[in-house]
Amino acid sequence: KKHFPADDSIVDKILGRSNSVHAVNGVSLSLQRNEIVGVVGESGCGKSTLGRTLSRLYEPTSGSIFFNGKDISSLSRKEEKKLRKEIQFIFQDPHSSLNPRRKIGELIGQPLEVHGIATGSEKREQVKQLLREVGLDPGQIDRYPHEFSGGQRQRIGIARALAVKPKLIIADEPVSALDVSVQAQIINLLKRIQDDHGFSMIFIAHDLRVVKHISDRVFVMYLGEIMEKAQTDDLYDNPQHPYTRALLEAIPNIDSESNREDTILTGDPPDPIDPPSGCPFHTRCPEYIGDICENEKPPLEGATDHAVSCHWKDRSTKERLEHAPPGG
Ligand code: SF4
Ligand code: MG
Repeated sequence: KKHFPADDSIVDKILGRSNSVHAVNGVSLSLQRNEIVGVVGESGCGKSTLGRTLSRLYEPTSGSIFFNGKDISSLSRKEEKKLRKEIQFIFQDPHSSLNPRRKIGELIGQPLEVHGIATGSEKREQVKQLLREVGLDPGQIDRYPHEFSGGQRQRIGIARALAVKPKLIIADEPVSALDVSVQAQIINLLKRIQDDHGFSMIFIAHDLRVVKHISDRVFVMYLGEIMEKAQTDDLYDNPQHPYTRALLEAIPNIDSESNREDTILTGDPPDPIDPPSGCPFHTRCPEYIGDICENEKPPLEGATDHAVSCHWKDRSTKERLEHAPPGG
């Protein structure tokens, strides 16, 4: 397990409400240098909004963002450009994020040029090196994105993000569009380059299985709020929130090709515009215990390295199951 000194934070964020649907609400996230944090939840839980707000693609309506010890909530144009270099994105669908009319050499080289890192033949050499680094043949530098498979295109997206040596990479569902067999290759690649370069990463996924082998810590989100956060091993060995447990039970078995976003949870998440009172999960919680869940929002509390937002947090699983409503 890596050790992260408490004062070595790269991102510190306290968010109030972000944008009009309050996709992210009261989320506090702190990320250490060299650390990978997984953010997991179903579609519409606000995890992508969180990533975009952190990198200031979205403006938070309240709260603040500290990056490398500096408040980045309001920046000059110049500072903003510098931040664009330090925070890079990897998107779910490399097909739509790579311009189909540009050769991959131009696509990967563009950030090098924009940020004044390299031009001309020097740029071309750096791009070839990046291609090698992500496991692609540098001889393919003059090909177009459509000539590559989905997994290879994601490698191109990774090379592009890596080109400017960012301090933070936000990977938003980077493997969700890929076959299960390719997912592991891309996760291993991300893990390896993170080891080599030592950037920090926020890895967003809807599937707990995907973040397990890459994350140092995991945040589980529901309707824009953090339900549980813990060191990765601890979260999988000792999940304390009913939502986390439901997500873990929903992980398809290893030889299943299923890549769908279904869970054992019944019904869809409620509309984030009109979230439920009390605990946001109470309308679907298999361990719902009555009025308190409906009326009182459980605070996110516990040890600093394992916090949970549930009124049952201090009870054992056995106790909870004994109190679970019949048939629930
Ligand atoms: Fe379930 Fe109640 Fe805990 Fe919410 S507070 S997760 S409804 S038991
Ligand atoms: Mg998303």
